[in-house]
Amino acid sequence: MNFSELFSIIPLIAAIAYTFLLIAPSIRRSQQESALKWFLVFLGASIVWEFFLFFVPFSNLPPNLPSKVLLIGTAFLGMTTAVYVDWPKKKSWFFLASIAIIATIAVDIFIPDRVIVPMNMSWATITVSSLVSFLTWFALSGTILLRTWLDYKRAEFPWHANRLLFWSLTLFIIFLGEAFIFFRLTGLTLAGQIIRYIGVIGLAYAISSHRIFDVRTHIRRAIAFVIVLLISALPLTVLIIIVQQVAQNQFRASLAFTIGAIVVSFLIYQPFRDLVERITYRYLFGEGFDPNLVVRNYSQAISRTLDVNQLSRLIIEILRDQFDTNRGALLLISEHDNVFEIEPVPGMGEIPRRRVEIEKDHALFGILAQQHQPLLQYEVDFNPEYTFVDQPIRDWLKEMAMEVYVPVSGGDKMDGLFAIGPKRSGVPYQPGELELIQILADQTVVAVQNARLYSELGEQNEQINQLNVDLVHQNERLEVMDQVKSDFITIASHELRTPLTQVKGYADILSAMNEEDALSQEQTREIVGHINRATMRLESLISAMLDASQIDVEGMQLIFMETRIDTIVRLAMEPLNQAIRERRISFTTQNLEDLPNVQADFKRLVQTFTNLLGNAVKYTPDHGNILVEGSLIPSDNGENDYIEVNIIDSGIGIDPKYHELIFEKFFRIGDPQLHSTGSTKFKGAGPGLGLPIARGVIEAHEGHIWVESDGEDEERLPGSRFHMTLPVCSDAAKKQLETAKNQERPSWLIG
Ligand code: ADP
Repeated sequence: MNFSELFSIIPLIAAIAYTFLLIAPSIRRSQQESALKWFLVFLGASIVWEFFLFFVPFSNLPPNLPSKVLLIGTAFLGMTTAVYVDWPKKKSWFFLASIAIIATIAVDIFIPDRVIVPMNMSWATITVSSLVSFLTWFALSGTILLRTWLDYKRAEFPWHANRLLFWSLTLFIIFLGEAFIFFRLTGLTLAGQIIRYIGVIGLAYAISSHRIFDVRTHIRRAIAFVIVLLISALPLTVLIIIVQQVAQNQFRASLAFTIGAIVVSFLIYQPFRDLVERITYRYLFGEGFDPNLVVRNYSQAISRTLDVNQLSRLIIEILRDQFDTNRGALLLISEHDNVFEIEPVPGMGEIPRRRVEIEKDHALFGILAQQHQPLLQYEVDFNPEYTFVDQPIRDWLKEMAMEVYVPVSGGDKMDGLFAIGPKRSGVPYQPGELELIQILADQTVVAVQNARLYSELGEQNEQINQLNVDLVHQNERLEVMDQVKSDFITIASHELRTPLTQVKGYADILSAMNEEDALSQEQTREIVGHINRATMRLESLISAMLDASQIDVEGMQLIFMETRIDTIVRLAMEPLNQAIRERRISFTTQNLEDLPNVQADFKRLVQTFTNLLGNAVKYTPDHGNILVEGSLIPSDNGENDYIEVNIIDSGIGIDPKYHELIFEKFFRIGDPQLHSTGSTKFKGAGPGLGLPIARGVIEAHEGHIWVESDGEDEERLPGSRFHMTLPVCSDAAKKQLETAKNQERPSWLIG
């Protein structure tokens, strides 16, 4: 077998080698299934290509067939890359490659065998179609390589970048091999085949293992090794040259000289090599560190800190000094019922403060606690063992943008995690460094626990302080309520006695005059009128008391119906109209007509508005203003609309400290000895039941009522603004309407 025969069977050997890769078990076990699928198709195309390379010269198949198959292989390689690197538009790549291949086939068919650079040497014969095939291959492979390289440059984390760097390098090796093969020179073809095969082995390795060795560090180590080797061999080389020079001149002298030189070189070789090694490694890998010293300094530094935030900052600062990172946080883990809550305490850099809750039995904690080892973000992203990590946690981790998480745990309980960002140099954390960080994390357990206890103590202290403040407030309120209670007796007896005395007095007069037979019809009517008014007053007082008591005992019973607020205001104003005319108070309404109908208890709302408007009239001096305005507060879905009605007066106002108390039963500002002096007179005192009843009614309608006022001042007249919100159709109203509807249904529908 001569040389050319030997070279002609290279493709056949290559085809067998690729077939071996196709059936290699380690590839078959790969977990990156979709990338593996395309890679196997690519391998298949490579085998077919090699077969055609072998058979085409001996058959009458078209001479450009192998290059077409190679192009198809490149398209599949592109798809493998698209899936492996996770390009966003994978299909469009396939579409582009298919069009390019179809175009080259068309050139093949329509412009066959046209030589554009005729040369006498057969290997340099370039036809239009082979040139087009080459250019298409160049464009496709260049695009794949460039995109992968750009993705590598953009990668945020070193281990992620490393994966892309490895892929780019293997792609480059494959394409380099293919380029060699294109030249069809025997020597180059052999080299090309070997180079391409090495590249494909690289791809197989990347696809079959999720963790790829640290390419940059390995390259640097290789460079360092070569540099050390070359430089440390330098003195020896120089010596040999000198010895040779001397030997040419004088034999005897040279023997002694040679022995001397050998001794000297032996003596200086090792120290010189050590020196070169140290300098080279320091230059290429930076200053090394003494783990013992780091741990000692670290322990000393953190033992003095009791504040969680300060501790986090300190930890990350030490890690920054050691590993050159500019992001990091301490993640505190606390237990609540069935979940662990993770709370980031920023140490350095922009750290999101969003907390996340993870179930206690989540496998992630299991792995972290069990392995007690740093967890790389890269593992979560690419290690098939972590596919169980659910999307919300992945999103949260993405937000954190950290390279490594290191458990801070003593025994079974995990107190926290160090979250450390990538190094600024872009170099991944080395195993030794990760080990050191884990040792530091172990040293931190007690410090974290102490800091936590301390901060809990602080929180509890704050809570106690707050409780104290609340207690003081409650005490003050209780004192006022106590006062209200004792005032109640005074108010109630005053309020009840006044009309009663009137009734009794007039009844006595009636009976005395009757006995004397001195009673005219006119006088009888007048006295009976007085008695009537007094009993009416008594009646209204007692019914107000009953209403007020109803609020507490059973809640208000409401009868809902379609109600218009403007009608209610009109009715409530009727008994007050004369008073406002006499006292020249201007009364206006705004937007009430535009309000939608509300489902409400008509009578109760009239009562509420009567109380509120009555107060507005009572506490507004003559010539003042009262305004009632309404507005609609629409809800998002249109089902829970509210209306707001404000009653604004220009009266004496209310001191803010009474804003809540005035809604208490029998509370009224001022002297309890004053009894009702009329329902419309300026500052006419009442029994202190109007507002509690109003609040009871509004709250029974699932609404709210509150007051705003700058304070009480009879000179300045700051006025009061009573606000009310009411649902257009409350839940209680809906329920009542529903029941009413059901009751209306014919019996045959129910039973
Ligand atoms: P009263 O029967 O005394 O009016 P309310 O419960 O209606 O009882 O009111 C309680 C207290 O709130 C009143 O005594 C009064 O001091 C104060 N108040 C109520 N409305 C107003 C208002 N519009 N302007 C000033 N003070 C008011």
